[in-house]
Amino acid sequence: MIVVMKPDVKREQIKEVIKYIEELKLRPILMEGVERNVIAIIGEERNLSIQTFQALSGVDYVMPVLKPYKLAALETSHKPSIINVDGVKIGGKHLAIMAGPCSVENERMMIETAIKVKEAGANILRGGAFKPRTSPYAFQGMGEDGLKLLKIAKKETGLPIITELMDIRDLILINKYTDIIQIGARNSQNYPLLKEVGRTQKPVFLKRGISGTIEELLMSAEYIMSEGNPNVILCERGIRTYERATRNTFDINAIPVLKKLTHLPVIADPSHGTGDYLLVPSIAKASIAAGADGLMIEVHPDPKVAVSDGAQSLTPENFAMMMEECRRVATAVDREM
Ligand code: PEP
Ligand code: MN
Repeated sequence: MIVVMKPDVKREQIKEVIKYIEELKLRPILMEGVERNVIAIIGEERNLSIQTFQALSGVDYVMPVLKPYKLAALETSHKPSIINVDGVKIGGKHLAIMAGPCSVENERMMIETAIKVKEAGANILRGGAFKPRTSPYAFQGMGEDGLKLLKIAKKETGLPIITELMDIRDLILINKYTDIIQIGARNSQNYPLLKEVGRTQKPVFLKRGISGTIEELLMSAEYIMSEGNPNVILCERGIRTYERATRNTFDINAIPVLKKLTHLPVIADPSHGTGDYLLVPSIAKASIAAGADGLMIEVHPDPKVAVSDGAQSLTPENFAMMMEECRRVATAVDREM
């Protein structure tokens, strides 16, 4: 159930409602919006009386949330959430474009990529320092040295950083360097990890699991939000199907479906969604047309020597061309980039 407070509600009235919920041995979660404050009630709500809540002072209206995910549900927030990442807004009219290499490899490639993707219009820099690889013998990422290079690239370009957290033990370290914590497809249902990032206020970029349903993705977002972190960004990155022509099957449906179900921003990752750089621009454009709030694109100065995901990485030149095409689609659907 959610309790929507009146626009002119007083602090005291919010506190009273929270106290009442706690007395009922339920968990209140206060979500402070620009226009409205909403209190979500978490727990067994079968015996709750809507009338009793409605009578409390400062309450505008009370609404049951039928979905299993309460905080992520669209009906809880009414309007799309906008997440502020170091000045870049994710979820508004302007599209968030995250670009950069799959892995951070060295200072030169990192800075060169950062400068070039920024010139082409990217507003967030990506790069993996801790890499989830299928083989334990493959390059596992540069670790903290890679985080340091991301920081240098940020200093050089002003672009905020997104990088992946795989292991709970690295949270403090990664949190120190990054502006957005990426939770990769393989950890999409790692609930202890999700809870831990939920205890920070850092924006979390949550990728859909390789075989994850849309509802499972939203339940994972709920794990993060229920710990107190409302700053969750969802990512469709392709799922595993019987089709072998592409690395994954990019689920374009997921974008409008998520938009129908949640107020959280939705980003498309056509790089992992296709696995083939030649297919990336088509799926990027389709995603914007379908309502995505932005893109995550792998870009490498020399994809053929990339240590990971070279086949799906665009050169900076191809990225700039793709951005031009995407801009035209964005204009057609009343978005900016
Ligand atoms: C990545 O972004 O490089 C990555 C490993 O993505 P995913 O978790 O979607 O496979
Ligand atoms: Mn990758």
